[in-house]
This record gives sequence, structure tokens and C-alpha cells, in this order.
Amino acid sequence: MIVHSIDPAADWIEALPTAWRPEEWATLHATLADLSRAAGWSAPVLARALSGGKRLLVRRRPEADDHSALTRVVDGGRCCVELYDRCFDGSRGRYPDRSAYARGTIVHELAHVWDIESGLLLSDRMRRATGSEYVIEASGQAHYHPAGGGEYGGATKCGHLSHEEDFAEAVAAFVYGPGYDQGQGRYVDRQRLAYVARVMAQERDGSAARAT
Ligand SMILES: [Zn+2]
Repeated sequence: MIVHSIDPAADWIEALPTAWRPEEWATLHATLADLSRAAGWSAPVLARALSGGKRLLVRRRPEADDHSALTRVVDGGRCCVELYDRCFDGSRGRYPDRSAYARGTIVHELAHVWDIESGLLLSDRMRRATGSEYVIEASGQAHYHPAGGGEYGGATKCGHLSHEEDFAEAVAAFVYGPGYDQGQGRYVDRQRLAYVARVMAQERDGSAARAT
């Protein structure tokens, strides 16, 4: 028996099932369900948050590069999430469990989509709310310094790359719990989790930041 809790053929998401292994396809759907449950979003709210009235493209691609997944803006200003072999084979090992690693990776990318659809306001507001900033170093390069509780500024290792990564990591930690950064010892702090809860509720109520 095949049960899909969220219809992959819904008009806001575009993916080609033939490019996916059945268990990978199931993992994508399970992750969408996890996000909507954690956020308290109905199917229409999920669609609005992640598509902005356009169609979200989710591609399964074989390339093995430095990434497990990537989100970019493509034609017509819509988002495209690309999921590579590493997303599913667990070779990056953030979780001891492959399925959990894939789900964490996918929800991180969906957080980027949500942020892009907000006009990048969601991540920028979290940066300001936490007092995180970019510091220009002697080399002339800007370096992101997350601010927050704990030894690592309240962000994961990946969250130290930029405020967009900080936001995506906070959303993933909100959905999958404090073990999200297992093995790295860098936990997302409470103020970030509270921020994510707040903006998820605003999205549910239709008052989240929208790009115009
Ligand atoms: Zn990212």
C-alpha cells in the first residue's frame, strides 16, 4: 500500500519521481510532513511559505561534489532545491542514521527556500534579533560572527558560515530537536529556536514577512 500524506504532484511542487529511488522519494515527503507538523502549518500554509505562488522545483541529481544539497533561484525567480547522493548516503555523518541525516539536510534546504521567498528577511531579522554581525578582518574579508548562548555563539558549525546558514540550521534544529548537530558539540541556542517558533506562527497566521 502506498500512502502519501502530502501529494507530491501538488501544483506548488515540481519533482520527477522517476529520478528518485522510492525510499528517497518517501524521505522527501516525510520531511515535508515533519516541517508542517513542527511548524503547525496546514498544506496551504506550507505551499505559500515554500512556493510564494510559484512552483518549487526539487531535483534529485547524482553529482557528488562538496555538497549534500543546494538551493538556488532559477528561471522566473522560483527556487530549485538540488539533492545529491551525499544527502542520502549519509557520508557526511552528522547523524549516525542515514534517514535522519537526509531529513535534516532537506529541511535545512527548505528553510533556505522559505527565507528566499521572504525576500531574505527571515534570516536578516534573526541576525539582528540575536545581535550577530559581520566583521571585516585584516584580510578585508567579511566574516560572520553569530551571537548567542553557549561557547559557539548559539549556532552550529555550518551556521557560522553566514546568517542565511545560521537561520537554516536554526529551522532544522527546531524541527529535529537539539540532537540536530550531534557530534559537533555546537548547539543552536534557545533564542534562535524561539525566533523560529515565532516566525512559523506568523506564517501560519499569514503575517510573516513577504517580499513584495
Ligand atoms: Zn545551507
